[in-house]
Amino acid sequence: MKTDIEISQEADLRPITEIAEKIDLNSDDIELYGKYKAKIPLSVLKKFDTNPDGKLILVTSINPTPAGEGKSTVTVGLADAFNRLGTKAMAALREPSLGPVMGIKGGATGGGYAQVLPMEDINLHFTGDIHAITTANNAVAAFLDNSLQQGNPLNIDPRRITWKRVLDLNDRSLRHVNIGLGGVVNGIPREDGFDITVASEIMAVLCLATSYADLKARLSVIVVANTYDRKAVTIGDLGVAGAIAMLLKDALKPNLVQTIEGTPVLIHGGPFANIAHGCNSVLATKTALKLADVTITEAGFGADLGGEKFLDITTRQLPKNPDAVVIVATIRALKMHGGVGKKELTTENLPALEAGFANLKRHIENMQSYGLPVIVALNQFASDTVAEIEKLIALTKALNVPVSLTNVYEKGGAGAQDLAEKLADLLKEKSEFHYLYPLESSISEKIQDVVTKIYGGKSVTFTVKAKRQMKEIEANGWANLPVCMAKTQYSFSDNATLLAAPKDFEITVRELVPKIGAGFIVALTGDVMTMPGLPKQPAALKMDIDEDGKISGLF
Ligand code: ADP
Repeated sequence: MKTDIEISQEADLRPITEIAEKIDLNSDDIELYGKYKAKIPLSVLKKFDTNPDGKLILVTSINPTPAGEGKSTVTVGLADAFNRLGTKAMAALREPSLGPVMGIKGGATGGGYAQVLPMEDINLHFTGDIHAITTANNAVAAFLDNSLQQGNPLNIDPRRITWKRVLDLNDRSLRHVNIGLGGVVNGIPREDGFDITVASEIMAVLCLATSYADLKARLSVIVVANTYDRKAVTIGDLGVAGAIAMLLKDALKPNLVQTIEGTPVLIHGGPFANIAHGCNSVLATKTALKLADVTITEAGFGADLGGEKFLDITTRQLPKNPDAVVIVATIRALKMHGGVGKKELTTENLPALEAGFANLKRHIENMQSYGLPVIVALNQFASDTVAEIEKLIALTKALNVPVSLTNVYEKGGAGAQDLAEKLADLLKEKSEFHYLYPLESSISEKIQDVVTKIYGGKSVTFTVKAKRQMKEIEANGWANLPVCMAKTQYSFSDNATLLAAPKDFEITVRELVPKIGAGFIVALTGDVMTMPGLPKQPAALKMDIDEDGKISGLF
């Protein structure tokens, strides 16, 4: 089969104005970024305010393995499938970050015949949103260091500055840096560090903000440092919330693009799914809900991480609850959960599949515990055997859960028509959605709920540092925020090697980080990387551009 980029370059791209017409947007409703990309200004939400919200489907998955699950691919194919069936559907997805694209992951715009276009642009600089966030984030850093230089009127303790600089690249040598060297005129020397841009709180804020006023209010309360007497210093205290919001004027507008089959897709925002919530922007999802009858959105990593955070963090900002959940599973990944090594994944192994099914089963039960109807999308790979497919279908049906064999990678929307039909039936059911925990619970109760009810763990241990931070959070009046768990994506536990469905483990919360602008408290378990490094053979080694500007090697 052809590579993703070869398939995408053969596709018949339609002018974005034509795609916009499909969702009733005229030339005044969109701002063109070339021929195939457009931004949707926030005024469009007001214009369509009286439209009823459509149905909302969340796509999530089992715990990822190096074998790959294909959430984005299934999301794109499913939106195509609904349109093939005559239902007006859109997908709302995250923007890829350049760091992982050039590093290990390659492109993140779906795969095979279920892709979003123009894939080169989307995976590279796209409409500049991520660069705007980089600039906004680093402007805050510049104003903060300037405040230190100009006599430190805010009494900032330079050893307690929590705001870092960012860059949208994987660059481990920037994790710890010294700045302000070179004498009096060159600033106050201090230790600093870089995160990848998508880990910036500004990215999380952009993804949760519902208007310019909300954006400004959220930016204003972001904590950047502490004073010598341990009081929080915010962007508002620096006096630049308005200026930073201004830098994000265009970045806040959702981006409209198309699939290979011409389905309208909004790609907007891409926060990390570990230290942030890992979902596309609330504005993009809200816009899609007004413009389409069915909106399909995806959350990062597995249902224990991105899925839980979509339901307990993002949904609280949306005008409506999700109506159904699709859990993407692959036979290869379930066999890995059942103990099979990466090299033996193409050999039939029914016992390993059955053992690994425990992982899918727990995710199904978890998503059902929110009161939502669940369907499993079995993302078919060429190496899956008939016996394995039949086994997985039987195991899922035994739980009374619908399952659909999906092959959008090879067939595009035609490969998810059965999934779309089954979902259409599920959408007729009334979902009884409820959150996992009420916001009024204490921070430790909320974390206990996630650990015991979603992860299947026994208990939570807080380090002395985390306990002290919990007291500070309570004293500041922030205890009513939801929690944003930062945990390995590979396991239900905080140990990446515990696959399938481990039980009775303890989770240690090392640190609690208040992200007041985003509106959640990050609970760090294990080591979480906020500036990734490059591998020995970065994906970039295969990338190239020819004399005609044609790009290759971008997966
Ligand atoms: P996720 O969203 O879960 O990270 P993606 O949808 O981005 O996963 O897919 C990861 C990679 O796997 C992509 O390169 C995609 O082309 C590939 N892929 C997905 N589904 C299939 C499939 N059924 N067969 C072959 N490759 C696939």
